Amino acid sequence: MKIIRDKAELRKLVRDWHRTGERIGVVPTMGALHAGHLSLVDAANGRAERVIVTLFVNPKQFNNPEDLDKYPRTEEDDAKKLAPYGIDVLYVPGPEQMYPDGFSTNISVAGVSEGLCGAARPGHFDGVATVVTKLLLQTGADFAFFGEKDYQQLQVVKRLVADLDIDVEIIGCPTVREKDGLAMSSRNLRLGDGARAEAPVLQEEMQRAADAIAGGTPAAEAMAALRSALEAAGFGEVDYAEVRRDGDLALVEGQPDSAARVFVAVWLDGVRLIDNVEIGDLRSLAAE
Ligand code: AMP
Repeated sequence: MKIIRDKAELRKLVRDWHRTGERIGVVPTMGALHAGHLSLVDAANGRAERVIVTLFVNPKQFNNPEDLDKYPRTEEDDAKKLAPYGIDVLYVPGPEQMYPDGFSTNISVAGVSEGLCGAARPGHFDGVATVVTKLLLQTGADFAFFGEKDYQQLQVVKRLVADLDIDVEIIGCPTVREKDGLAMSSRNLRLGDGARAEAPVLQEEMQRAADAIAGGTPAAEAMAALRSALEAAGFGEVDYAEVRRDGDLALVEGQPDSAARVFVAVWLDGVRLIDNVEIGDLRSLAAE
């Protein structure tokens, strides 16, 4: 695994691979790698002849400077975790590679980036869309792998790639969870012991809400009960608790008539947790 920090060096390598007909898979990350990220690397290895993992803590997608400061940076550990996967390149561009002096372009995706995290974190998805566009172009990827953990982000990326005619297939991969059900996240490292023990209640309550909706409870009613349950369990502010349709993320308040998910962002111990859970019985509806 070669560590590359320079985009010109990466471009040369990528050109050589494409010349010999090798397809490239990219896994964009902000590092502090865990089994969720590594599942994307596995998926990339299964699909492409060449695999690039990118590691860049993108300042443009942080709407809160303190969150950016506190974001874990563990490059050496990350490289060690990737070693057994036999990938070709760990691409670690510095900010000067991504946003050199004079950088003035912003990619902004309407529709799917409004609501949910888009409403709670102004500017976040512009930052994501801009950096993902650059990483796709820099890596020349044929396939790019994103986690359903960040389901709204996955839809934003699918939209921008379709709208900008970027020749890459976007592949969504299922959320990887800890044994107790907590969705893996680099931010979990910041939870204190008590909060870490409490955190799995989020997924349990979300699953309970999803089951209630599958059993006939209107979405808005289930979301009100979910908010109350999270508050009673000691969670902090709920940024949102909503049911949205898969794909276009349209808000659902009654009974969903196609595949839909429960989405929550909630604070616990100064850490913002996000998760989403499929409304089980509707999966078969979507497949019909
Ligand atoms: P991040 O480093 O948080 O920007 O995440 C990089 C990629 O890993 C994104 O596509 C995330 O959706 C994905 N990812 C993060 N956590 C998980 C998880 N628990 N399961 C699956 N994918 C994940």
